[in-house]
Amino acid sequence: MTRKQKRNLIRIIVSSVFLIVLNIVPTTGLLRAGLFLTCYLVIGYDILRKAGRGIVNGRMFDENFLMAVATVGAIALAVYAKTGDYNEAVAVMLFYQIGEWFQSYAVGKSRKNINALMDIRPDYANVEQEGKLIQVSPDTVAVGSEIVVRPGEKIPLDGVVVKGASSLNTSALTGESLPREVTVGDAVISGCVNMRGVLTICTTKAFGESTVSRILELVENAGSRKSKSEKFISRFSRIYTPAVCISALALAILPPLVLTALGKSGMWGDWIYRALTFLVISCPCALVISVPLSFFAGIGGASREGILIKGSNYLEALAQTKYVVFDKTGTLTQGVFQVTGVHHNTVDEDTLLAYAALAESASSHPIAQSLQRAYGKEPELDRVGEIQEISGHGVLAVIDGKRIAVGNSKLMDSVGAAYQDCHQTGTIIHIAIDGAYAGHIVISDVVKQDAASGVAELKKAGVKQCIMLTGDREAVAKDVAAALGLDGYYSQLLPGDKVQRVEEILAGKSGRETLAFVGDGINDAPVLARADIGIAMGAMGSDAAVEAADVVLMDDNPLKIAKAVKISRKCLGIVKQNVYFAIGVKLVCLILGAAGFANMWLAIFADVGVMVIAVVNAIRALQVKNL
Ligand code: ADP
Ligand code: MG
Repeated sequence: MTRKQKRNLIRIIVSSVFLIVLNIVPTTGLLRAGLFLTCYLVIGYDILRKAGRGIVNGRMFDENFLMAVATVGAIALAVYAKTGDYNEAVAVMLFYQIGEWFQSYAVGKSRKNINALMDIRPDYANVEQEGKLIQVSPDTVAVGSEIVVRPGEKIPLDGVVVKGASSLNTSALTGESLPREVTVGDAVISGCVNMRGVLTICTTKAFGESTVSRILELVENAGSRKSKSEKFISRFSRIYTPAVCISALALAILPPLVLTALGKSGMWGDWIYRALTFLVISCPCALVISVPLSFFAGIGGASREGILIKGSNYLEALAQTKYVVFDKTGTLTQGVFQVTGVHHNTVDEDTLLAYAALAESASSHPIAQSLQRAYGKEPELDRVGEIQEISGHGVLAVIDGKRIAVGNSKLMDSVGAAYQDCHQTGTIIHIAIDGAYAGHIVISDVVKQDAASGVAELKKAGVKQCIMLTGDREAVAKDVAAALGLDGYYSQLLPGDKVQRVEEILAGKSGRETLAFVGDGINDAPVLARADIGIAMGAMGSDAAVEAADVVLMDDNPLKIAKAVKISRKCLGIVKQNVYFAIGVKLVCLILGAAGFANMWLAIFADVGVMVIAVVNAIRALQVKNL
């Protein structure tokens, strides 16, 4: 509880007791009015002040205004009619404050939940200076420095383990509760907690570019992208509140005027009371509060599962997902290729592999990294001249003064090398030296463990088509598509072709349906941006992907796509329930109020009761573990 919440809670308790005492101890006349007025001001002074400020600033039609007019009106009426019944006015204010308090507590609580999960911001990094470990702020550590992370500490910066072995708790980042074992050579990301051994890490990113900073930035900015429902609600209340005020005014004035004109008693007090009740009932706070809160909770719940959603508009779009288009390498497959064959023509096997690895020494493509791993040595960078990477084709490089081309058949065509086809299954990496074909390396990738079930879950969640796009060979694409039960695939695509295919599918779908593209961002950032929802693999994906994407999966697990869809459906379901429930109850009460069947007590329920129920319901969006 914050200090303000504590203060308000005390205020609520004090004025409740005060009100009860006033009802037990009999008082009359001015003393009675004075005591009730004191109680009213204790509980409501801030609302009156806010309403006053709203009027001064020209933004008067908000819920503070409604409450102020309704309660001041009720007091005035009690004075005018000499009933001495000030209970209603004080009670309306009291319950309104209880509702406000509850809502601020609930919002604070879910914010805290999310912040706890976001408690990944490291406070310090340990660096060694003159044989001693000292703590420094992570943003002062340069790329390539060595930092030491002891058991129990958070990894402050992304890097590679250079000494030690340990298990890492990655649950704050991925929702995955199983620890991850790491040892020398493994890449580690900031935000994980070191559980066992002491690790020495060579940093590969500055703090600002590290995973932790990127995630925090993402989550903090998520609120600024509003969903259609949220926009609707704020537009709705801009028109709704003034409309209600005018209706209330009409209700207070017109019927008595007509009655008086007809020569009957105007019953002014009666109609004004109805109008005031009308005002309390119509307060739109249940909607204004619960709709954004539902989205907030949904996004928070998702991030606890390692699914970062950049805004509630994307959460809304996810719920309508009917087409999911996948990239292959690194998305459905692990992107960790094994060399399964080296077929050489003009040079020996080792030379061929060396040329390939050296040419790839600057590329971040999974293929490049696999070839370097197969090479097994530090690349001798002094042998490497200019390097040019052609996305969807491969790389061109100058090595030992020779022009080396490493890539697929398209690349061979473009350098004029007469390549040979290979019948071994796998991805074929052709190599040409000075334009002459030198042989190829066969590499193969395995599909991710959860890829098939990820596709099956999407189908179960009502996704119509799961389609794979790849720049790889037809044979490989066919194998993977069959193994995963995909509805279709397109192979040998250049990055631009992928955009075109996605646009074709986009053109074929109906209005409300959405298309999600899932990729690792290597060569597919344009498609990520073009799709209705771009989903990026965050752990292995490139920075460009995380930038371009709308949703980031922290653990690269294809099962999380279906999970994200289910989370969004639950959240949207809750939003709908709240909207219908709140508007429904209010409509009924408004009609009853106008007809004179509702008193202030029913009005309080229609306002505060509905709000509390809607808020409790909204918080359910946070529970997504078992979806
Ligand atoms: P995917 O669509 O499967 O993710 P990409 O679009 O990244 O694949 O690449 C398509 C094809 O282009 C690869 O299968 C490979 O043949 C070739 N290629 C791309 N980049 C490289 C590279 N750095 N080295 C060798 N071949 C590459
Ligand atoms: Mg790719």
